[in-house]
Amino acid sequence: MVRAHARMNGVQASEATGKHMTRVLAVANQKGGVAKTTTVASLGAAMAEQGRRVLLVDLDPQGSLTFSLGHDPDKLAVSIHEVLLGDVEPDTALLETPEGMTLLPANIDLAGAEAMLLMRAGREYALKRALAKIGDRFDVVIVDCPPSLGVLTLNGLTAADDVIVPLQCETLAHRGVGQFLRTVDDVQQITNADLVLLGALPTLYDSRTTHSRDVILDVVDRYQLPVLAPPIPRTVRFAEASASGASVLAGRKNKGAMAYRELAAALLKHWKSGKALPTFTPEV
Ligand code: ADP
Ligand code: MG
Repeated sequence: MVRAHARMNGVQASEATGKHMTRVLAVANQKGGVAKTTTVASLGAAMAEQGRRVLLVDLDPQGSLTFSLGHDPDKLAVSIHEVLLGDVEPDTALLETPEGMTLLPANIDLAGAEAMLLMRAGREYALKRALAKIGDRFDVVIVDCPPSLGVLTLNGLTAADDVIVPLQCETLAHRGVGQFLRTVDDVQQITNADLVLLGALPTLYDSRTTHSRDVILDVVDRYQLPVLAPPIPRTVRFAEASASGASVLAGRKNKGAMAYRELAAALLKHWKSGKALPTFTPEV
């Protein structure tokens, strides 16, 4: 109740004053391979298509987002590592992507930042501080969190207005969800009272079998977590896209790209007018 109310006030305030508001969305799940990076790249591309100024933040030392957007993580002059440690201005690390987005890139150096940040006061706020300097140039900032609940993910959640948790609709998707929800709760209590968990996003969804549906029903049942619509279908196009250095939305039309476009449009509407996000109810 309190959180939803705070959000409405935010929406009304920005409309009343006409003041620019940047939305920061974190995509997080401590499990790897659930399509966090794919979701960040695809939602970002869909929002850029809609004319939004989009900044994507790679918070994963593996640099998969950086790589998938056509930049070689091993050849970065500066990266988010130096930015989080406060050694360089965030500006100096920004790169453009072929699809008209801006990227704050990462590479393996970031694994070191994690250890260095741990020794500092205010370590959860490093990304928030960096975004305070550059955020207002963008309409939307989307943060790709690493597969852990460590200090980097805490930075992502602390800097964010909203968080989405992608759930791969396969084998034991619910495992770890409880721990994830506790982390979100901790962040809401301690570093970011305004953080809103928008819900789970079903990914790698296969509508032809009952398995994907059962996985989602199980998670809803256990955690009463909103499930966002539309589910993102499993399609071979995603693997092809990340190998080619272009986002999944580039080139051919496909079901996955269409699902991400639909979700992107719903998010933009939600941020603009407070309209509730569509949720997904699997047919039983
Ligand atoms: P994470 O960032 O959570 O580790 P990724 O976005 O890297 O997950 O996705 C893991 C793998 O799954 C990648 O090889 C990606 O290309 C593939 N993938 C993601 N979404 C889909 C999808 N809807 N259909 C098929 N493959 C997908
Ligand atoms: Mg990833």
